[in-house]
Amino acid sequence: MKRALITGVTGQDGSYLAEFLLSKDYEVFGLRRRTSTPNYENVYSIKDRIHWISGDLTDLASLIEAVRIADPDEVYNLGAQSFVAASWPQPLLTSQITAVSVTNMLEAVKIVKPTARFYQASSSEMFGKVVETPQRETTPFYPRSPYGVAKVYGHWITVNYRESFDMFACSGILFNHESPRRGLEFVTRKVTDAVARIKHGLQSELRMGNLDSLRDWGFAGDYVKAMWLMLQQEEPDDYVISTGEMHTVRELLQVAFSYAGLDYEQYVVIDPEFVRPAEVDLLLGDSSKAQTKLDWKLEVGFHELIHMMVDEDMKRVAAEIRYHDAFTLVN
Ligand code: GDP
Repeated sequence: MKRALITGVTGQDGSYLAEFLLSKDYEVFGLRRRTSTPNYENVYSIKDRIHWISGDLTDLASLIEAVRIADPDEVYNLGAQSFVAASWPQPLLTSQITAVSVTNMLEAVKIVKPTARFYQASSSEMFGKVVETPQRETTPFYPRSPYGVAKVYGHWITVNYRESFDMFACSGILFNHESPRRGLEFVTRKVTDAVARIKHGLQSELRMGNLDSLRDWGFAGDYVKAMWLMLQQEEPDDYVISTGEMHTVRELLQVAFSYAGLDYEQYVVIDPEFVRPAEVDLLLGDSSKAQTKLDWKLEVGFHELIHMMVDEDMKRVAAEIRYHDAFTLVN
């Protein structure tokens, strides 16, 4: 039975990856940061099948201990401060967690289990103010946020450990990937949640930032399979994972609202609070290397993804209303 250690396992990608690895009969170890109110929402159904290890990405000693306990064949480093907009007000925290912690994790693996295969969650945000379109593995980076800068560090330190210490370390350059488990602050989920709340009469407007930016949005469930595939190859390498299709935020609004029979123009208000100090105008990935070498396939398209997210938010909001009504009745 193979053993995998996942950091960031309670997040969107970590939860899909854990489910995928469990379905492949892996023993899954999840790093858990101590908090007074742990959030297991994404891993609720598999919580008891994960071996939980307490640790913190900023604390090397705890990571060394985590690798010792897990004794992993594969390590997936998905933990990060992952919200771009939060990286301006918290640039140092972002650097500590999203950049320097990658070295912590690599060091822990190098010290305890250097033969373990290592996956680093890199990001299309590294391309930032893009110098070519579409972006591929060879495209130079030009990050536009403290988050993007931190991810560039994480990418290069992973490449460096591969080249310096002969470690099987891969960097997956994933373009935006979404799902019903996406955090509510990200634009896709913010929109699909708002659609559900407006439809149920709980919200009357949606405050947004730049509607013109273009993103290459895919389904997180498809993308975690690419992470695993990278670690099954004979040689470690870096891969772009993307759909090769881009849409504006405005199109996202159109697709989500019209699916619920609503006109987004009646609800959306532009609010400077959500406009970023520096914007990434366009991201479009060329994942042909992953498709050819990994035989990776995309299964869920843009419309299907947004519809899935609206459906799930509709169900969740309806359940919240039922719960609230029942609670009001008994009290
Ligand atoms: P990112 O690509 O990792 O930054 O993912 P996000 O989902 O946070 O943002 C995607 C794009 O949507 C960016 O270009 C944002 O500027 C744009 N956007 C416009 N309005 C909003 C908003 O209200 N919230 C967020 N998160 N993004 C917005």
